[in-house]
Amino acid sequence: MITPNMHYADLKDSYLFYNIAQKTKAYLAQNPDKRLLRLGIGDVSLPLCDAVIKELHSAVDDQASKERFHGYMPECGAPFLREAIAEHYHKLGVMLSLDEVFVSSGASDELGDILDLFDRKSTCLVIEPAYPAYVDANIMAGRTIVHLASGKENGFLPQPSDAAKADILYICSPNNPTGAVFSREQLQAWIDFANENGSVILFDAAYEAFIEDDTVPHSIFELEGAQRCAIEICSLSKTAGFTGTRLGYTVISKQLVRNGMNLNDMWVRNRTTKTNGVSYIIQKGAAAVFTDEGRRQINENIKIYKENAKVIMRALDKLGIWYCGGKNAPYIWLRCPNNMGSWEFFDYLLNEIQVVGTPGEGFGKCGEGYFRFSTFGSQADTQEAAKRLVQLLGEVHRFAAFCAFRCRC
Ligand code: PLP
Repeated sequence: MITPNMHYADLKDSYLFYNIAQKTKAYLAQNPDKRLLRLGIGDVSLPLCDAVIKELHSAVDDQASKERFHGYMPECGAPFLREAIAEHYHKLGVMLSLDEVFVSSGASDELGDILDLFDRKSTCLVIEPAYPAYVDANIMAGRTIVHLASGKENGFLPQPSDAAKADILYICSPNNPTGAVFSREQLQAWIDFANENGSVILFDAAYEAFIEDDTVPHSIFELEGAQRCAIEICSLSKTAGFTGTRLGYTVISKQLVRNGMNLNDMWVRNRTTKTNGVSYIIQKGAAAVFTDEGRRQINENIKIYKENAKVIMRALDKLGIWYCGGKNAPYIWLRCPNNMGSWEFFDYLLNEIQVVGTPGEGFGKCGEGYFRFSTFGSQADTQEAAKRLVQLLGEVHRFAAFCAFRCRC
């Protein structure tokens, strides 16, 4: 009998979003007259911008024309899109050749697939709290995972140390779930550490478009030595509302070599074996994101999410609640008040003010006692949620109210 990949048996059930769905469903069943204000979602709520829609329509028309029809696309990406992406990097001061840019169907796909480049015996470092896919993809491959806990004391931005030594280093900045972002100096320390140890950094830049601070790098390749140790994985999901349209890109420098193997060449070989490229229509739509008009339009949407962030941050400031993120990221990560646990705070907000967030515990053990608000919800819901938060937690007798709630549980 065939033996399946038994590492799947080591996966822990992902209770986070299932539990949230179950709890909100049960609440609504008991309170059918209530409307939930959802600040938990990691999905965008605004549609694709006009520049993208126009290009998508035009590309559909191309597919109806004998002269302009496209069949299989180049596996690593259409030259017109690779060029647009390389030009985007050029504006950041990063010079890339087109064959260092790979077009993908999204960051999730790529974060999993890229592990093909590494030996199964290689170890991987996950800085926690973390996007859950990093851990699960490596458990499936049977890799040893080094968990590095981060916390309030280092602003959820730990620096390298002996405890962080591993072959593959995941770094996500701006971070999901904490919204924290590495400064140039902090990121440089990780690059130097990776080069000293022969490690490879998988740099998840899914949220780079939310960076507003000039001193924060958008790309790891803005820093010295990154081309020799990093792979950057990007996505248009949050940048341009492509969560359902699907497009991402990955940058691997020709200079990235380990054990005599060139990782760029290996990835070309991998893609040409395992994919037939991303659809022509989607790549055309994606190219519009990199035009001046497309950029202007997606920035209008990002501005709306940033307004939501300000509304939530103002409420937390008023309440004196500790948080990070929100400025250069679409997530706000807060300390649950009154030493509440993550799920306890979730229940409290759901029952008292019908606000739904994400319990920090779902992103790793050190997320316990923390909570994530997303800024991707509607503006009206975000404003109402912030108002209710201030009312609930800002009352003079809030502690008594909280104790009463605890007794009921
Ligand atoms: N990386 C991080 C940190 C994310 O939060 C997400 C999605 O939420 C992704 C990657 C996946 O992005 P994509 O939609 O491109 O698969």
